[in-house]
Amino acid sequence: MPDNPLAGFGVTFKAMFKKRLTEQYPEYKKPTAPRFHGRHQLNRHPDGLEKCIGCELCAWACPADAIYVEGADNTEEERYSPGERYGRVYQINYLRCILCGLCVEACPTRALTMTNEYELADSSRESLIYTKEELLAGLEEGMVESPHSIYPGMTDKDYYSGFVTEAAPGTVQQEPHSKNPLNEAPQAAADTFGADEPAAAEAVGEK
Ligand code: SF4
Ligand code: SF4
Repeated sequence: MPDNPLAGFGVTFKAMFKKRLTEQYPEYKKPTAPRFHGRHQLNRHPDGLEKCIGCELCAWACPADAIYVEGADNTEEERYSPGERYGRVYQINYLRCILCGLCVEACPTRALTMTNEYELADSSRESLIYTKEELLAGLEEGMVESPHSIYPGMTDKDYYSGFVTEAAPGTVQQEPHSKNPLNEAPQAAADTFGADEPAAAEAVGEK
């Protein structure tokens, strides 16, 4: 038994006069640090083509096995990125992700970066598996939605050298024939895991 049983109340008493640290979330959202590790984003080139080349280096670098990527070949009729390959399926499982940023470090094209968005809580497992459509950056001025043709006279190297600053005049979106249902909606992805795409289910941890 302690010498003075009331000594513990001293701590409580002192805390009563300290400045409160309670954050009034969600009414007040404290700004994050500029380099905060939040939700990921798949970036685009200035003409709207995608930077991801489907190389899977991000998936290999991930210590939590939270990323699933399937690459595919671009064609002249359906081009998503300036080079040979693009990311046909891209998923991040936020039930597994620890937001460490190792995937961003591994990405050779700066296709993958992290945003400052941290409100990732949700009520179902399916909704926390983000698909390519959810992760892909929105269109900015001068961009045309992929797939579309490469800027005339430019190569993929020119894109990375910064020579392409907007879509060429007259650029139109091509017909996306090879769109994958795994990218279309979280529910579609979750429905497909068990039957048609066991590899995808395993890769993102939905066993
Ligand atoms: S940030 Fe998430 S997805 Fe990226 S490497 Fe870390 S755990 Fe994997
Ligand atoms: S995000 Fe980067 S590392 Fe991952 S598949 Fe695409 S290009 Fe490769």
